[in-house]
Amino acid sequence: MKLVIPRDVLESCLLGATNTFPSEFLGLLAGFYQKEEAVVEKLYLAPLSQSNEDSVWFDSLNVPISAGVVGTFHSHPNATARPSAQDLRLFSRYGRGHLIAAGPPFTARQTAAFDAHGRRIELVVL
Ligand SMILES: [Zn+2]
Repeated sequence: MKLVIPRDVLESCLLGATNTFPSEFLGLLAGFYQKEEAVVEKLYLAPLSQSNEDSVWFDSLNVPISAGVVGTFHSHPNATARPSAQDLRLFSRYGRGHLIAAGPPFTARQTAAFDAHGRRIELVVL
């Protein structure tokens, strides 16, 4: 499994993380699957999301089925890019490729990709 993302989409995610700091930022990654790759085309802000320093929530009922969600992006302010137990529940529900950015600063180098089980996968930035 690999997560493939255009640089401008990743930069939008990282900008969201920076602007939301010190709270967490959560977005949905939409795109398609191609063999063992989750190919991201765009970032959706999670509908009705709320956040504080510890966690983020969103209402899954507001995510359109047609959105083509292949994964999630969220930030870990002042933490490492390691999925929490709560993250693993999120990952298992929303696609097969997930990103966590640890920061600040939130950069591509501080961003790690995971599969739906929280295992590290390759991140390809186009
Ligand atoms: Zn997390």
